[in-house]
Amino acid sequence: MIGTFTFENLPCRVVFGSGTLASAKAEIERLGGKRALVLTTPQQEAQGKSLGEALGPLYAGIFPGATMHTPVDVTERALAAMKACEADCVVSLGGGSTTGLGKALALRTGINQLCIPTTYAGSEMTPIVGQTEHGLKTTVRDAAVLPETVIYDVDLTLTLPASLAATSGINAIAHAVEALYARDTNPVTSLMAEEGIRALARALPVIAAKSDDREARTEALYGAWLCGVCLGTVGMALHHKLCHTLGGTFDLPHAETHTVVLPHALAYNAPTVPDAMARISRAINASDASQGLYDLAKRLGAKLALRDIGMPESGIDKAADLAVTNAYWNPRPLERGAIRDLIARAWAGEPPVTIKAAA
Ligand code: NAD
Repeated sequence: MIGTFTFENLPCRVVFGSGTLASAKAEIERLGGKRALVLTTPQQEAQGKSLGEALGPLYAGIFPGATMHTPVDVTERALAAMKACEADCVVSLGGGSTTGLGKALALRTGINQLCIPTTYAGSEMTPIVGQTEHGLKTTVRDAAVLPETVIYDVDLTLTLPASLAATSGINAIAHAVEALYARDTNPVTSLMAEEGIRALARALPVIAAKSDDREARTEALYGAWLCGVCLGTVGMALHHKLCHTLGGTFDLPHAETHTVVLPHALAYNAPTVPDAMARISRAINASDASQGLYDLAKRLGAKLALRDIGMPESGIDKAADLAVTNAYWNPRPLERGAIRDLIARAWAGEPPVTIKAAA
């Protein structure tokens, strides 16, 4: 049954396919851009420079300093580079870290962004930017940070190593999983969520076996886009809160943390969200959604334990305390004991366990 709901379409133009990078120049012109600053990480600088060459007279320069968690001092250096070359738009070529830098610049200046994602993080579809200063990460939601145009070019994702594709892909699935039981869930976002999960769950094992399988890479990028829309259009819950807390407190890698935590956070919420569980099970073709997601990560060869990605055992209680300190919405009320248990299981890499809510 369809009830009353609100759905806000976010204004963003998407160009999707293989070889679509070739349309970057035309897309910048479409935005009215005359001088484009290309943003990359140091690892993707060469790729950024060759894009610059293809932009010809529109190329104003490159800032190859994007890094994890969008540190404010990096943004300030990029801002200086932007002014020095009199850029009137930015082109972010890379994963969520590079997209984050473009958004941080847009937040401060309102500059237009052409975003060319090369991972499955999905940040390009959201009006959200997380920034770090003095070791503290804060998140801002502002329509100004949503990129105007996004070019998805499957060819650029072929170089994403299979291990990164696995964790980045499950990071994307996590957005769609929480969208299915969001407080502001709606049938349109849920359609995209289920389809996004289905596409990624089907494509990722193929990519793990054959990294350059173009059809699977296309399906994965399509799924990642849909999952990114989910993250941009509805609010998240326990899983994202836990990952944010764990990542920030113990400096854990973003996508890997999502991959480990997802089955456990979902198992915690399972008793209160039967419809979402049914849709996820259907999408991943498993009898139980949380066990199925655990099995998927295992099949992809991803790390399954927080202890294997840098979290100390002594951090379990601290993480449980933090997870229940700041109140936030979750379909199942926050119970410290059960949350501590799920973090302990995720720390040890055990399979997820669903325990019914306390009466
Ligand atoms: P990332 O952007 O940090 O990239 C990881 C590494 O992979 C980098 O060295 C990058 O240069 C390299 N890389 C990227 N694409 C590649 C490719 N195709 N081939 C080879 N190497 C490639 O990682 P990520 O997981 O994409 O992004 C994580 C960051 O994004 C986090 O800081 C996270 O908080 C943020 N994020 C934000 C949102 C949001 O809505 N604001 C959403 C998702 C993620």
